[in-house]
Amino acid sequence: MNEMNACKPKIIMDLESLNTTNAQGCPACGHKFNLGDTAVLACGAWGAGPRYIHENEAVLDKETARYFERGYFASLKAGA
Ligand SMILES: [Zn+2]
Repeated sequence: MNEMNACKPKIIMDLESLNTTNAQGCPACGHKFNLGDTAVLACGAWGAGPRYIHENEAVLDKETARYFERGYFASLKAGA
C-alpha cells in the first residue's frame, strides 16, 4: 500500500493533488495546500501511514531516505 512512497516522495501540488489532499489538509499544520506548494510524503504522529505535508514541515532522514514530520522526527531521535 506504500508504493507511492517509493515513487513520488515529493510533489508539486497541482489541481488533482489538491483534490486528493485537501479533503483533510496538511496533517502537520492543519492548513490546506495551495496550487504550486511543494509537498512531501512523510511519516508523523498521525500514525496511519505516510501523508503529504508541506516540505518545510518535513525532515529528510538521510539513513532511510524518507521524510518525517519535524516534531515526530525529533521525538524519534530523542529515543521516545
Ligand atoms: Zn502544512
